[in-house]
Parts: sequence; structure tokens; C-alpha cells
Amino acid sequence: MSRTIGVVVSSRIVAGLVENNKLVGSLRVYPEDPEDHEALLDHPVESLCRLILDQAMALPIDGPIDGIGVALPGIVRSGIVEDSPNLVQLKGARMAEALTEVFQAQGVSAPVRCLNDADAIAAGVAVVHDMRNRLVRIWSLGNGIGFGRFPYAEGVWEGGHMVVTLDPKETYCGCGGRGHLEGIMGYRAMRLRFLDMEPEEVFAAAKRGDARCMEFVRLWHRGLAAATATSIHLGGPGPFYFTGNSIHFLDLGLLKEYLWQMVKMSPLQNYILNVLPNNSDVAVIGAAAWARLSF
Ligand SMILES: [Zn+2]
Repeated sequence: MSRTIGVVVSSRIVAGLVENNKLVGSLRVYPEDPEDHEALLDHPVESLCRLILDQAMALPIDGPIDGIGVALPGIVRSGIVEDSPNLVQLKGARMAEALTEVFQAQGVSAPVRCLNDADAIAAGVAVVHDMRNRLVRIWSLGNGIGFGRFPYAEGVWEGGHMVVTLDPKETYCGCGGRGHLEGIMGYRAMRLRFLDMEPEEVFAAAKRGDARCMEFVRLWHRGLAAATATSIHLGGPGPFYFTGNSIHFLDLGLLKEYLWQMVKMSPLQNYILNVLPNNSDVAVIGAAAWARLSF
């Protein structure tokens, strides 16, 4: 039996105890209010490490732990966060090292492994839906647009920053790059584009027939279809999962229609599009599985 801790850090910190790829007890969450999207922004790295430790230590740990997997937003390689546009204080942080120290100070000597948060969801899907021998790709739609894949492959995989338009006016991406998917789909980017409307109001107005909002909703879906089509043209077809805080905006039928227009080579057309409920269970299980580095 394996016992690991999975932690997912996004706009919140969520920790869970996992035994044999199943959650034991309930998840620990900071902050508790799901609407508090800014709670982590002001915490420096040391303080974030302390918050992660606090959530993990509050789990019903009873006996030795085999590993701790911590999923973080951004480019995460070899335990270092190379960049993190949506949690900027993490840029350059040696998180695996820092977390190992704080856990060891509490008497927990299990290895700490860090991974990208979207990769944690992909790993979780592979484990929970028994797809360990498939290429699983996920899109996580929130402030940032996360792209995750399983199995692990060396690379950067910042799919949310794929260029999906050559329009020079598309400048809303948090990273500053032009024409990026996140600049269209990201929640923060949508608020910058429609200064007078919240994203929820934009999608509601589109349903009522507002021309400007309808045009944007089409662009939103075409952007996601374009990035998915590019991933299919590079990596082949297979299962794609869509999740995240903005998942309620997704019209799967419209996405399929656009993707059908973009992927025409018959060996590439057996892709499968699935919606994954927006909760942290799968990502926590994925982060925990990563801690063992065996699936
Ligand atoms: Zn970008």
C-alpha cells in the first residue's frame, strides 16, 4: 500500500491524503472561501511554503508517508519554478528544496516532488480513469489557461501561450505575448477586454443575441479549437479533458464543430473531447501519484 500527500496550488491551496490512488478523508483547503481568488498573491515564497505545510499537516496522517507531490502553476522543472505569470512570486523559486526543508523541520522526511498543476490533472485522469497507457491531455480554463499531459515528457508545454491569432490587437495575455490563447480565454484577460462587463455577463449577453458578445464567444471557442488542433497535429489524436473555473462557459458542441473544421486528416480524427467536473480531487490524486514517480 502506498500513502502519499497531494497538494495543488492555484488560486487556493488544496491538500489531500491518498492511499492506493484514492482520497482518504476530506481535502484541506486554504482559503476556505472559493470566491477569494487573490488570497495567495501577497504571500512570499516562505509564507506559501508554510501554508502548504499547514494544510498537509492537518490531514489525517497516521503513520509513514511515501512522498509528497506539489502541483504549482507555471513552468516547473526539476523542482524549480522557472516562471509563473499567475503567481509571480514563485518565479525562480526552488520549491522542492524549500518544501523539503519545511517538512523535514516538522519531522516528515518523505521526498517532495513538484510538478505543473495542469500535468497533475492529466496524471490524475490517467490514474482515476485507468488511462495510464494513453496520451492524456487536459485544458484547465481559469485566470491562466493550463495545458497538461500524461505521461510525462521532457519539455515546456505552455499550451495556454500558443499563438492562435495573428491579429496585432490581441495583447491581453498575462505574459505580455501577442495572439496567445490565454489572452482570449483567460478570465483576467476577458475582464481586461470587456472593461464594462464581467465574463459571466458577456456569455449571458451572447445567449441573448448581443452581436459583440456573440462574436467574442465564437472567438473563445475557435481559439481553444485551434490550440487543440495544433496539439493533435503535433502529438496525434486521443482523449482531451476540459476543466477549470471557467468550464461553465464551454459549449462542447461548438468546440467540436470548430475542431472538425480544423482537423481534416482522417488518421487524426479519432480524438475524444470530455468535460471534467471542476473540483480538485483528480488533481490532488495526480499530484500524489507523481510523488511516487510510478503509476
Ligand atoms: Zn501568454
